[in-house]
Amino acid sequence: MPSDIFIYIVLMSVAGVLNIFIGIYAYVKRTSFLGSKTFIFISLFSAIYTFGHAFELSSQSLEMIVLWTYFQYVGLPYIAPLSLILVIQYIGKDRYLTTRNRMMIFFIPFITTMLVLTNHLHHQFYQTVYLRDDVTPMIDFVIGPWYIVHGSYTFASLLAGGILLLHYWKQTKAAYWKQIFVLLLGLYLPMISSFLYLLGYTPYGMDPVPIVMSVTSFLYIWAFLSTNILELAPIARGLIFDSMRDGVLVLDPNLRIVDFNDAAKRIIGNKLNDQAIGKNIHSLWKENELNDFLFPSIEHLNNKEEFELEWTGLHSYYQIRSTPVKKKKGFIVGSTIVIADITEQKLLYQKLELLAYTDGLTGILNRKTFIERSESIIKQMYEKGHSTSIIIFDIDHFKAINDQHGHRMGDEAICHVVSICKTFLQPNDLFGRYGGEEFVLCLPSTTLNEASEYAEAIRRSIENTPFEVENKKISITASFGVTQASEAIMMEEILSYADKALYKSKHNGRNTVHLAEANRIFHVTDELSTTLS
Ligand code: GH3
Ligand code: MG
Ligand code: MG
Repeated sequence: MPSDIFIYIVLMSVAGVLNIFIGIYAYVKRTSFLGSKTFIFISLFSAIYTFGHAFELSSQSLEMIVLWTYFQYVGLPYIAPLSLILVIQYIGKDRYLTTRNRMMIFFIPFITTMLVLTNHLHHQFYQTVYLRDDVTPMIDFVIGPWYIVHGSYTFASLLAGGILLLHYWKQTKAAYWKQIFVLLLGLYLPMISSFLYLLGYTPYGMDPVPIVMSVTSFLYIWAFLSTNILELAPIARGLIFDSMRDGVLVLDPNLRIVDFNDAAKRIIGNKLNDQAIGKNIHSLWKENELNDFLFPSIEHLNNKEEFELEWTGLHSYYQIRSTPVKKKKGFIVGSTIVIADITEQKLLYQKLELLAYTDGLTGILNRKTFIERSESIIKQMYEKGHSTSIIIFDIDHFKAINDQHGHRMGDEAICHVVSICKTFLQPNDLFGRYGGEEFVLCLPSTTLNEASEYAEAIRRSIENTPFEVENKKISITASFGVTQASEAIMMEEILSYADKALYKSKHNGRNTVHLAEANRIFHVTDELSTTLS
């Protein structure tokens, strides 16, 4: 065995050990960086490849050499695609690495492994393998069609990885260039050396790639120790920016768009694309008639101070925050606009608000809200010189409905009455559930006379619309009390008058309407009883 080959074998074994070391290091640090799994696999497959190569070179028979050559293909085909995956993770685009895409990436390498292991059956990878007569013991081979597929795929993967990295270079801070440079070397050195090998420029026609890979391993180790490459900060930058739920726009002092993330594009629409960079944000708005968004006015953006406002989209709510970007000395170099989608919170708030204002069973106003809103309406109407009327009604013999048909049917009967009453409502009327089966109406700009007609109409409608349950018709009636409100009287007092009228209705045989006159001058119970009796 020539001594050069011996050195070569030693180097290769060192490279194999180094790869294992890197793999272990990556495993230990696996939680602190993205892409650690990929790194571990790259190291593992590289170790398989380099050890296979070392054993191949130290083998003495053709069978053993072929065996160790085949062994290398358990690892080799995956290294380049894994490097591409590492780059994709590094630039923060790993959302594209779905299981399906990963399977597609590894499809050709997998076929390569399978074809190499079964090469003696079909000779699609190596057509012939023979011992060389110039340098022994080494083999040469005539390549088969799949060898070309494998080679092209490997180059294409490395090339794609390199292009992505170079593209990304522009967007990263200078502090990370060393990392990117090391990654690029890791991708391109094996590629260049394997080109040289294929063109026949290597000594003894030996494959230099495993040696080169040991050089890149050294580079990686150096990079780990000097720049924390495994922490991969640019990943974080890219990932955070693009995978944020909030839309972010970066503007220069003249409100020109400098950068934006994927979420901003999603919220604003595809008009915010690469061509939008450099455009003034307001002219972008005007040009594209993005008017379904009420974007913050230019004054807001111009005043350079932080601001927060709500922005209503088509079906969404956003909260916009603008923060000036200041340099160390305090002068403003631009601003960031963060658009947070607050639709969920908003809808939840609306739901909670609804629950707080309404009655759970019937969906009409609850007692508290009814009283509050009625008080304010009465006041407003009084100021305009209009009167407001109040109707209160209570379902007759409701206990009997509950007793005969059960509580659930009772509930449905309540809803039935509510739905009848709703058909009479005018847009400004308030309708509330006062108690169990007792309801109240507040009718702005309505006189006592009009209100009594209104009540009488509802009463008749309830009487004439029986509640149907299990093919049975249950007739329902209700008793009414009506009164007119004047400003000086609190709601409680007005309702007590209405209640008295209702009580009269109950007393006088139910299913009837009674009126109570209440006003500032004559709010005396005796007066009322005279009117009512
Ligand atoms: P009256 O004609 O004098 O009003 O007789 P009534 O049986 O209707 O008597 P009252 O108004 O005092 O009783 C109301 C009953 O309604 C008492 C209660 O069990 C029942 N009730 C109150 N709230 C609900 C409810 O939400 N669902 C059901 N199913 N029943 C209710
Ligand atoms: Mg009742
Ligand atoms: Mg009652």
